[in-house]
Amino acid sequence: MVSLHAVNKHFGELHVLKDIELEVAPQEVVVVVGPSGSGKSTLCRSINRLETIDEGEIRVDGELLPVEGAALAKLRADVGMVFQSFNLFAHRTILDNITLAPIKVRGLKKAAAEAEAMTLLERVGIADKANSHPAQLSGGQQQRAAIARALAMQPKVMLFDEPTSALDPEMVGEVLEVMTSLAKEGMTMIVVTHEMGFARRAADRVVFMDHGQIVEQATPADFFDNPNSERARSFLASVL
Ligand code: ADP
Ligand code: MG
Repeated sequence: MVSLHAVNKHFGELHVLKDIELEVAPQEVVVVVGPSGSGKSTLCRSINRLETIDEGEIRVDGELLPVEGAALAKLRADVGMVFQSFNLFAHRTILDNITLAPIKVRGLKKAAAEAEAMTLLERVGIADKANSHPAQLSGGQQQRAAIARALAMQPKVMLFDEPTSALDPEMVGEVLEVMTSLAKEGMTMIVVTHEMGFARRAADRVVFMDHGQIVEQATPADFFDNPNSERARSFLASVL
Protein backbone atom coordinates (compact mmCIF):
# COMPACT_ATOMS: atom_id res chain seq x y z
CA MET A 1 0.00 0.00 0.00
CA VAL A 2 2.93 2.30 0.76
CA SER A 3 6.46 1.77 -0.49
CA LEU A 4 9.59 3.83 -0.09
CA HIS A 5 12.69 2.99 -2.06
CA ALA A 6 16.15 4.59 -1.71
CA VAL A 7 14.59 7.71 -0.19
CA ASN A 8 16.98 10.48 0.80
CA LYS A 9 16.23 13.91 2.09
CA HIS A 10 18.33 16.80 3.39
CA PHE A 11 17.49 19.99 5.21
CA GLY A 12 20.49 22.03 4.08
CA GLU A 13 23.52 20.22 5.44
CA LEU A 14 21.42 17.90 7.57
CA HIS A 15 20.82 14.44 6.05
CA VAL A 16 17.45 13.61 7.63
CA LEU A 17 16.36 10.53 5.65
CA LYS A 18 19.11 8.11 4.65
CA ASP A 19 18.42 5.39 2.05
CA ILE A 20 15.01 4.59 3.47
CA GLU A 21 13.48 1.28 2.33
CA LEU A 22 10.01 0.56 3.68
CA GLU A 23 7.10 -1.53 2.45
CA VAL A 24 3.76 -1.37 4.18
CA ALA A 25 1.26 -4.03 3.13
CA PRO A 26 -2.51 -3.46 2.91
CA GLN A 27 -4.06 -3.66 6.40
CA GLU A 28 -0.66 -3.65 8.04
CA VAL A 29 -0.03 -1.53 11.15
CA VAL A 30 3.53 -0.21 11.29
CA VAL A 31 4.63 1.66 14.39
CA VAL A 32 7.66 3.93 13.95
CA VAL A 33 9.71 4.63 17.06
CA GLY A 34 13.01 6.38 17.68
CA PRO A 35 14.66 9.29 19.43
CA SER A 36 13.56 12.87 18.89
CA GLY A 37 15.12 14.28 15.70
CA SER A 38 15.59 10.86 14.08
CA GLY A 39 13.42 11.77 11.06
CA LYS A 40 10.09 10.16 11.98
CA SER A 41 7.95 13.22 11.22
CA THR A 42 9.84 13.93 8.01
CA LEU A 43 9.20 10.34 6.92
CA CYS A 44 5.44 10.74 7.54
CA ARG A 45 5.29 14.16 5.93
CA SER A 46 7.10 12.86 2.85
CA ILE A 47 4.47 10.16 2.35
CA ASN A 48 1.71 12.69 1.74
CA ARG A 49 4.09 15.16 0.14
CA LEU A 50 4.03 17.81 2.83
CA GLU A 51 7.80 17.48 2.31
CA THR A 52 9.56 16.78 -0.97
CA ILE A 53 12.36 14.21 -1.12
CA ASP A 54 15.73 14.68 -2.84
CA GLU A 55 16.17 11.13 -4.13
CA GLY A 56 14.33 7.86 -4.35
CA GLU A 57 10.69 7.01 -4.87
CA ILE A 58 7.57 6.81 -2.78
CA ARG A 59 4.47 5.01 -3.98
CA VAL A 60 1.00 4.89 -2.48
CA ASP A 61 -1.13 2.00 -3.77
CA GLY A 62 1.38 1.56 -6.59
CA GLU A 63 1.29 5.17 -7.80
CA LEU A 64 4.29 7.48 -7.61
CA LEU A 65 3.60 10.58 -5.56
CA PRO A 66 2.21 13.30 -7.82
CA VAL A 67 3.88 16.68 -7.85
CA GLU A 68 0.87 19.00 -7.94
CA GLY A 69 -2.64 19.68 -9.11
CA ALA A 70 -5.64 17.36 -8.99
CA ALA A 71 -3.47 14.28 -8.62
CA LEU A 72 -1.90 15.73 -5.48
CA ALA A 73 -5.34 16.50 -4.02
CA LYS A 74 -6.31 12.88 -4.73
CA LEU A 75 -3.17 11.64 -2.96
CA ARG A 76 -3.95 13.79 0.05
CA ALA A 77 -7.41 12.22 0.13
CA ASP A 78 -5.94 8.71 -0.05
CA VAL A 79 -3.45 9.37 2.75
CA GLY A 80 -5.12 10.54 5.95
CA MET A 81 -2.91 12.32 8.43
CA VAL A 82 -3.36 13.02 12.12
CA PHE A 83 -0.88 15.33 13.83
CA GLN A 84 0.16 16.00 17.39
CA SER A 85 -1.67 19.35 17.21
CA PHE A 86 -5.19 18.59 16.11
CA ASN A 87 -5.36 21.33 13.45
CA LEU A 88 -9.14 21.66 13.53
CA PHE A 89 -10.68 24.84 12.13
CA ALA A 90 -11.43 26.84 15.30
CA HIS A 91 -14.32 28.86 13.87
CA ARG A 92 -16.23 25.89 12.47
CA THR A 93 -18.34 23.29 14.24
CA ILE A 94 -17.03 19.76 14.55
CA LEU A 95 -19.56 18.65 11.94
CA ASP A 96 -18.36 21.36 9.52
CA ASN A 97 -14.74 20.40 10.16
CA ILE A 98 -15.54 16.87 9.04
CA THR A 99 -17.77 17.66 6.06
CA LEU A 100 -15.80 20.50 4.41
CA ALA A 101 -13.31 18.33 2.52
CA PRO A 102 -15.72 15.56 1.51
CA ILE A 103 -18.02 18.23 0.01
CA LYS A 104 -15.17 20.05 -1.73
CA VAL A 105 -12.89 17.20 -2.78
CA ARG A 106 -15.18 14.16 -2.95
CA GLY A 107 -18.07 16.21 -4.32
CA LEU A 108 -20.60 14.94 -1.78
CA LYS A 109 -23.89 16.77 -1.22
CA LYS A 110 -24.09 18.44 2.19
CA ALA A 111 -26.76 16.06 3.52
CA ALA A 112 -24.80 12.98 2.46
CA ALA A 113 -21.56 14.36 3.91
CA GLU A 114 -23.32 15.10 7.20
CA ALA A 115 -24.83 11.63 7.39
CA GLU A 116 -21.40 10.07 6.85
CA ALA A 117 -19.84 12.47 9.37
CA MET A 118 -22.36 11.51 12.03
CA THR A 119 -21.55 7.83 11.52
CA LEU A 120 -17.85 8.61 11.95
CA LEU A 121 -18.47 10.75 15.04
CA GLU A 122 -20.40 7.86 16.56
CA ARG A 123 -17.52 5.56 15.75
CA VAL A 124 -15.06 7.79 17.62
CA GLY A 125 -17.57 8.35 20.45
CA ILE A 126 -18.33 12.09 20.13
CA ALA A 127 -21.59 12.25 18.16
CA ASP A 128 -22.96 14.54 20.89
CA LYS A 129 -20.28 17.14 20.00
CA ALA A 130 -21.27 17.54 16.33
CA ASN A 131 -22.52 21.09 16.78
CA SER A 132 -19.82 22.22 19.23
CA HIS A 133 -16.74 24.21 18.32
CA PRO A 134 -13.27 22.70 18.84
CA ALA A 135 -12.51 24.86 21.90
CA GLN A 136 -15.53 23.32 23.66
CA LEU A 137 -13.98 19.85 23.42
CA SER A 138 -11.27 18.25 25.55
CA GLY A 139 -7.95 17.49 23.86
CA GLY A 140 -8.84 13.82 23.58
CA GLN A 141 -12.18 14.66 21.99
CA GLN A 142 -10.51 17.09 19.56
CA GLN A 143 -8.04 14.44 18.52
CA ARG A 144 -10.88 11.94 17.99
CA ALA A 145 -12.60 14.59 15.83
CA ALA A 146 -9.37 14.98 13.85
CA ILE A 147 -9.31 11.21 13.28
CA ALA A 148 -12.95 11.31 12.11
CA ARG A 149 -12.08 14.16 9.77
CA ALA A 150 -9.26 12.17 8.19
CA LEU A 151 -11.48 9.09 7.87
CA ALA A 152 -14.16 11.15 6.11
CA MET A 153 -11.94 11.22 3.03
CA GLN A 154 -12.02 7.41 2.91
CA PRO A 155 -8.24 7.15 2.94
CA LYS A 156 -6.35 4.04 1.87
CA VAL A 157 -3.79 4.59 4.59
CA MET A 158 -3.69 6.63 7.79
CA LEU A 159 -0.56 8.32 9.10
CA PHE A 160 -0.42 9.29 12.76
CA ASP A 161 2.43 11.52 13.94
CA GLU A 162 2.58 11.40 17.75
CA PRO A 163 -1.20 11.75 18.02
CA THR A 164 -1.22 11.53 21.82
CA SER A 165 1.90 13.56 22.68
CA ALA A 166 0.02 16.82 23.26
CA LEU A 167 -2.70 15.24 25.40
CA ASP A 168 -3.13 15.19 29.15
CA PRO A 169 -2.31 11.68 30.36
CA GLU A 170 -5.90 10.78 31.20
CA MET A 171 -6.93 11.37 27.57
CA VAL A 172 -4.29 9.26 25.90
CA GLY A 173 -6.21 6.01 26.38
CA GLU A 174 -9.37 7.12 24.61
CA VAL A 175 -7.42 8.14 21.49
CA LEU A 176 -5.35 4.94 21.46
CA GLU A 177 -8.58 2.98 21.80
CA VAL A 178 -9.98 4.57 18.63
CA MET A 179 -6.71 3.82 16.83
CA THR A 180 -6.72 0.22 18.06
CA SER A 181 -10.24 -0.33 16.77
CA LEU A 182 -9.29 1.17 13.39
CA ALA A 183 -6.37 -1.23 13.22
CA LYS A 184 -8.64 -4.17 14.04
CA GLU A 185 -11.03 -3.09 11.28
CA GLY A 186 -8.17 -3.50 8.80
CA MET A 187 -7.03 0.08 8.17
CA THR A 188 -3.47 0.34 6.84
CA MET A 189 -1.66 2.52 9.38
CA ILE A 190 1.73 4.10 9.95
CA VAL A 191 1.93 5.38 13.53
CA VAL A 192 4.74 7.41 15.06
CA THR A 193 4.39 7.16 18.82
CA HIS A 194 6.20 6.93 22.13
CA GLU A 195 3.38 4.78 23.51
CA MET A 196 5.26 1.50 23.70
CA GLY A 197 2.25 -0.32 25.17
CA PHE A 198 0.26 0.59 22.06
CA ALA A 199 3.15 -0.49 19.82
CA ARG A 200 3.30 -3.86 21.54
CA ARG A 201 -0.46 -4.43 21.34
CA ALA A 202 -1.38 -2.98 17.97
CA ALA A 203 1.68 -3.13 15.71
CA ASP A 204 2.26 -5.84 13.15
CA ARG A 205 5.77 -4.46 12.82
CA VAL A 206 7.92 -1.95 14.67
CA VAL A 207 10.32 0.23 12.70
CA PHE A 208 13.13 1.79 14.74
CA MET A 209 14.72 4.96 13.34
CA ASP A 210 17.84 6.73 14.50
CA HIS A 211 19.73 9.59 12.81
CA GLY A 212 17.65 9.35 9.64
CA GLN A 213 18.13 5.62 9.18
CA ILE A 214 15.86 2.64 9.65
CA VAL A 215 18.06 0.68 12.03
CA GLU A 216 15.74 -2.25 12.76
CA GLN A 217 12.36 -3.62 11.69
CA ALA A 218 10.81 -6.45 13.65
CA THR A 219 7.65 -7.79 15.21
CA PRO A 220 6.86 -6.04 18.50
CA ALA A 221 7.75 -9.17 20.47
CA ASP A 222 11.18 -9.42 18.81
CA PHE A 223 11.87 -5.71 18.96
CA PHE A 224 10.93 -5.17 22.60
CA ASP A 225 12.24 -8.43 24.05
CA ASN A 226 15.21 -8.93 21.80
CA PRO A 227 16.47 -5.76 20.06
CA ASN A 228 19.36 -6.41 17.69
CA SER A 229 21.29 -3.19 17.83
CA GLU A 230 22.93 -1.30 20.65
CA ARG A 231 21.11 1.84 19.45
CA ALA A 232 17.71 0.15 19.89
CA ARG A 233 18.70 -1.22 23.30
CA SER A 234 19.71 2.20 24.58
CA PHE A 235 16.57 3.80 23.09
CA LEU A 236 14.37 1.23 24.81
CA ALA A 237 16.21 1.70 28.07
CA SER A 238 15.40 5.41 27.86
CA VAL A 239 11.68 5.02 27.19
CA LEU A 240 10.60 1.86 29.04
P1 ADP B 1 11.43 13.38 14.65
O1 ADP B 1 10.02 13.48 14.17
O2 ADP B 1 11.95 11.97 14.67
O3 ADP B 1 11.64 14.05 15.98
P2 ADP B 1 11.97 15.18 12.45
O4 ADP B 1 11.64 14.45 11.21
O5 ADP B 1 11.01 16.18 12.95
O6 ADP B 1 12.36 14.13 13.61
O7 ADP B 1 13.36 15.93 12.26
C1 ADP B 1 14.52 15.31 11.77
C2 ADP B 1 15.62 16.34 11.73
O8 ADP B 1 15.32 17.31 10.74
C3 ADP B 1 15.81 17.10 13.03
O9 ADP B 1 17.19 17.32 13.20
C4 ADP B 1 15.07 18.38 12.78
O10 ADP B 1 15.62 19.42 13.56
C5 ADP B 1 15.29 18.60 11.31
N1 ADP B 1 14.20 19.33 10.66
C6 ADP B 1 12.88 18.96 10.65
N2 ADP B 1 12.15 19.80 9.92
C7 ADP B 1 13.01 20.74 9.44
C8 ADP B 1 12.86 21.90 8.60
N3 ADP B 1 11.67 22.24 8.07
N4 ADP B 1 13.97 22.61 8.33
C9 ADP B 1 15.19 22.25 8.83
N5 ADP B 1 15.40 21.18 9.61
C10 ADP B 1 14.32 20.43 9.92
MG1 MG C 1 8.36 14.23 15.09
